[in-house]
Amino acid sequence: MKILVIGGGGREHALVWKLAQSPRVTKLYCAPGNAGISQQATCVPISADDLPGLQKFAEEERIDLTVVGPEAPLALGIADLFRRNKLKVFGPTKNAARIESSKAFAKDLMLRQKIPTAESQMFESASAAIQYLNSRPVPIVVKADGLAQGKGVVVAQTHEEAREAVLNMLEQHAFGAAGQRVIIEECIQGEELTVMAFADGKTVMPMLAAQDHKRIGEGDTGLNTGGMGAYAPAPLATPALRYTIMREVLYPAIEGLSRVGSPFFGVMYAGVMVKDGVPYVLEFNARFGDPETQVVLPLLKTDLVEVLEAVVEHRLDQLDIEWSDAAAVCVVMSSGGYPGNYSTGVPILGMPDSASSDSVMVFHAGTAWKDDQIVTSGGRVLGVMAVSPSLKQARNRAYETVQVISFDGHYFRKDIANRVLKEREA
Ligand code: AMP
Repeated sequence: MKILVIGGGGREHALVWKLAQSPRVTKLYCAPGNAGISQQATCVPISADDLPGLQKFAEEERIDLTVVGPEAPLALGIADLFRRNKLKVFGPTKNAARIESSKAFAKDLMLRQKIPTAESQMFESASAAIQYLNSRPVPIVVKADGLAQGKGVVVAQTHEEAREAVLNMLEQHAFGAAGQRVIIEECIQGEELTVMAFADGKTVMPMLAAQDHKRIGEGDTGLNTGGMGAYAPAPLATPALRYTIMREVLYPAIEGLSRVGSPFFGVMYAGVMVKDGVPYVLEFNARFGDPETQVVLPLLKTDLVEVLEAVVEHRLDQLDIEWSDAAAVCVVMSSGGYPGNYSTGVPILGMPDSASSDSVMVFHAGTAWKDDQIVTSGGRVLGVMAVSPSLKQARNRAYETVQVISFDGHYFRKDIANRVLKEREA
């Protein structure tokens, strides 16, 4: 089978790495890919949002299945385009992907389907937004309505900070069109959890739950990022809580989308905050999470190709998906300055040989080849992942590997998975 993966970050590297393990795969392509991906797939220089270019490539190369990594091509309608042209594609339609591309659409769906979520209001005018937030208690959350790569959310500790975020989005246009509307949302204080599920329009099959670390600073401080590290499975997700999330979040979301004529095929991602046992939805995504995918896929025992095909062919109900009982931890190494400004083109040194261990994998996120050297090309550069029988061993192995890799100005959080390990020890 010939498979094309679209995207070029850590998530796509994890997808390519997992797909390469399938005996069904004869040829793997990735568009555009990155330096790490190029060691496992043929990278083609087509950008993830060049829909006509991707279609032409898939037709010419007779690709059997295209797997869409990032949100942007989904929001542009790549799944619709491919399906219209009889090309098999894993990912939701543009309309179904609105659960991610428009927070307003997602909020409406949640209200209609009675999915627990934070109380919120939407504004296009800064003065109305500020008047509203002044009347609410702090902390309070300000969100850009559209896609902002995980950075369009400010959890403001003071009214001043919240007002600044509103002005930044609505008047300074910090997120362009994505920030033309803002959502002011009640801040829910609890434990965060990511549950991703495969969905084929009718059947929903959850993956192992993971926990991401969204803030740049240790102890969950500082700005929101695309994600600085993750682990799976998250012990917070007891069987009872997983059942609640299925019944109160995932099923109603899938059913609500079908009801408005936008059945969902692909990966539905629910980012929830668990407070007093209730999973409040903070966001839905319409694709695999990054970096959660880097810790969830290594624990998948079933052939990923079988799962993706079952989704595309609407026969997920006939599949048993098996998971390993090991644990995985991924530590993201980023460029100094991220999520603000940072330099690129910095040589990366000490990269371990990927073939030397089957329990440690360095997923590339923002890397490129320059002459014969691998250099940085983005904010999040690498995701160092280890799988071990216990979470503690996985964490230790990931950090041992992080210690041998370096690039000028590199940064990583030293506390990935620490909180849960401390809680368990206590
Ligand atoms: P989102 O992109 O909506 O998931 O928001 C990014 C991050 O901001 C989340 O992972 C949370 O850490 C935080 N966040 C978003 N909404 C809320 C909320 N209503 N209450 C508390 N924290 C939130």
